[in-house]
Amino acid sequence: MGDVVRKKVVLLGSTGSIGCSTLEVARQIPERVELVGLAAHSSVGKLAEQARETGVKHVALADASKESELRTLLPEGVTLHVGEEGLIELATLTGADVVLVAIVGTAGLEPALAAIEAGKDLAVASKEILVMAGEIVTAAAEKRGVKILPVDSEHNAIFQCLDGHRGGEKEVSRMILTASGGPFRTWPAEDLKAVTVEQALKHPTWEMGRKITIDSATLFNKGLEMIEARWLFGIGMDRIDVVVHPQSIVHSMVEFIDGSVLAQLSRTDMCFPIQYALTWPDRVRGGLEPLDFSQLSRLEFEEPRGEVFPALDLARRAGLEGGTLPAVFNAANEVAVDAFLERKIGFTEIWSLVGEVMESHEVASAGELKGLIEADDWARRTCADLVGGGSA
Ligand code: NDP
Repeated sequence: MGDVVRKKVVLLGSTGSIGCSTLEVARQIPERVELVGLAAHSSVGKLAEQARETGVKHVALADASKESELRTLLPEGVTLHVGEEGLIELATLTGADVVLVAIVGTAGLEPALAAIEAGKDLAVASKEILVMAGEIVTAAAEKRGVKILPVDSEHNAIFQCLDGHRGGEKEVSRMILTASGGPFRTWPAEDLKAVTVEQALKHPTWEMGRKITIDSATLFNKGLEMIEARWLFGIGMDRIDVVVHPQSIVHSMVEFIDGSVLAQLSRTDMCFPIQYALTWPDRVRGGLEPLDFSQLSRLEFEEPRGEVFPALDLARRAGLEGGTLPAVFNAANEVAVDAFLERKIGFTEIWSLVGEVMESHEVASAGELKGLIEADDWARRTCADLVGGGSA
């Protein structure tokens, strides 16, 4: 029997939904996962409590204005890293094996690149960073010889279906991402204009942070995942499909050229993909309950309503055209989701705004981080102007 590998993990975004599930996994399999660093934006109380529970010696706080408040709460002997620089210091911590990025939005991109450069494996929950800079992140990982481990349940499912498959990408005919369809799956198109923030924040199957919950309701989440899959698995957008599966039990599938389809199933709990990403290539017994098939009455599948939810077409366009367009797609969506949450725009304006910003963008190459950051910045400003000007 080989030695048990206990991975030292830095967790960026520890106070969020994925972050808390990662702490839960670490509690269940302490012989496999040791948290060595935690980072958040501004939730100082929760971060200090997590530092106390896990015994980490390093924490990072992005919001420098709360530094002194956090210092008073942290246990003795914990080093505090502050600001964007602090996140990078944590991502490159000596002795860490894996950096799990679970920061909402693109703020995790530079820490992720720094982690790769420092030779750490990267476990990625933050899909936005691969959408914005998939080419750069995957090329950097390949060059440095580090692994990118998908945490997103759909990509983790595909990763599991491909694990041990020797035939390579040429034997894969399609990757099929499953989507719950969100709370408005069956709603008539004309009713969507009046959707409230409260209605959109009620996801039928998953408990998640606010941004991804809105993205699930608009189907932008699935659009982001299509582009994420393109980079994680090096497959063309034309071979990435989406099927709606309201029960969220089948997390995604791979169809091979011989017509066989492999799927990964589990209960709807993000601890499953997090645990697999952190114990890979091993499987270990943790605290997770397997499915009880006697309780599963049915598994349904249906076509997404592309004409009602344009996010999938926008994503396909962004992914096919490539260059800076996926970064623009992502950034405009972040601004539009914020505006919706702040009740400045209506629900359907999220996709009309993103479409409008994409339309007015002059696509450039995605080879340089600087160009992507400029495109991201441009998209945010353009989208904010449209929100402010009320032309959405
Ligand atoms: P949450 O909103 O619940 O948590 C976000 C986390 O990121 C918090 O810890 C927050 O800290 C931190 N954060 C936000 N901004 C910054 C910043 N600028 N610098 C440092 N830390 C920051 O989000 P989720 O956990 O739901 O999602 C995180 C990522 O994982 C997203 O990209 C999402 O798409 C992806 N994902 C989430 C899934 C889920 O089930 N939730 C499933 C698959 C993917 P603070 O608390 O201090 O604000």
